[in-house]
Amino acid sequence: MRCELRCPRCGFVSDDHNMMRCPRCGSPLMFKCHEVRLDVNSGYASMWRYVNMMAVKPARVVSYGEGLTPLVKIGEVMSKLETRNPTGSYADRASSAVVSNIVRDIYRVRYESDFAYSMAFYARLAGSAISVVADPQSLDPYDVVEIASLGGSIEFDAAPDLYYENPLSVEGLKTIAFELAEAQPRAEAVYVPSSSGLLAISVAEGLDELVGSPPLEVVAVIVKGSPTPSMLGLSKSIRLAEIEPEEVVKSQVRLAKRGIYMKFLAASAYSYAAVEGNGIALITGSLRRSLQRKTKVGGTTMLRSMIISLLSRRGGLTAYSIWKEMSQYTLRGVYSALRSLELSGTVCARYTMEGSRKVKVYELCDGQAGEQNFNT
Ligand SMILES: [Zn+2]
Repeated sequence: MRCELRCPRCGFVSDDHNMMRCPRCGSPLMFKCHEVRLDVNSGYASMWRYVNMMAVKPARVVSYGEGLTPLVKIGEVMSKLETRNPTGSYADRASSAVVSNIVRDIYRVRYESDFAYSMAFYARLAGSAISVVADPQSLDPYDVVEIASLGGSIEFDAAPDLYYENPLSVEGLKTIAFELAEAQPRAEAVYVPSSSGLLAISVAEGLDELVGSPPLEVVAVIVKGSPTPSMLGLSKSIRLAEIEPEEVVKSQVRLAKRGIYMKFLAASAYSYAAVEGNGIALITGSLRRSLQRKTKVGGTTMLRSMIISLLSRRGGLTAYSIWKEMSQYTLRGVYSALRSLELSGTVCARYTMEGSRKVKVYELCDGQAGEQNFNT
């Protein structure tokens, strides 16, 4: 396998593998790899099992079990649940790749909702600080609160040194393609919600570079009326599809009735896949963390302290086994309490493999969680 860092727009090739943007045209650079073969490192219960297939090998791996997301049927649609990533979004794959490869005391990240939140999480995991550089006009006020709750700060007139669209994000996102290739699903297409188009292009490149990958067509789904993703013109193999916003909202409501809360953009691919059939919808982000804000009412404090007490005595338990010890609460309540304990840094999770299944195990944090030495 060999890789070069090149500009997908003008073809410029960079010898400096730390370069992020094309000096000639300003487009984000991407690694183009050749002769990539499926080569799984079973020592990782995360997307890092594909580390041997990535263009760059990090000196350290900052991981919280991102990737290896389940492929399940929701209604009639085969769905890949990126919502199961640590912060509830596919962006965790990008953040983990960025923070593992770039070691900084402070990451100054250009605001992009899910990526900024995810970067705040991974920066903290690495013991670094994050500052999100935002335009106050385009900032979701909830994001400010959530980024701050992870120790991040917001700046309005600084220059960012990191953008979501960068070569390392693409390397992280290509692992979605590797997982699809390993799963060998019976499908003809993968439907990808698209705004900038970086996710669709990463999945398409990952499939394209991998020798023997399944013949999946990558379909970038946009909501009718929104601008055409700027990066999609850079890949010939991606088909662009439009869905009516009314259809997306209908899907969102139908799914919410079943307890599945998708973000609008995430629901667009699902909605389109439901019409087209025979494809896989990437479910990129959930509303879970927004909903979680409303669940912090009386009773959950008690549940959280019971969980802390149990973990201090027994450690290393799955959510299910925790719930069995406190069955006066619902399993969903236990998950929600664990999630808020995770986000506050009290409880840390690690992943182990049980057969071919990724299992999440909770314990109290010892300050070093999440960082693994690449050589071990
Ligand atoms: Zn260029």
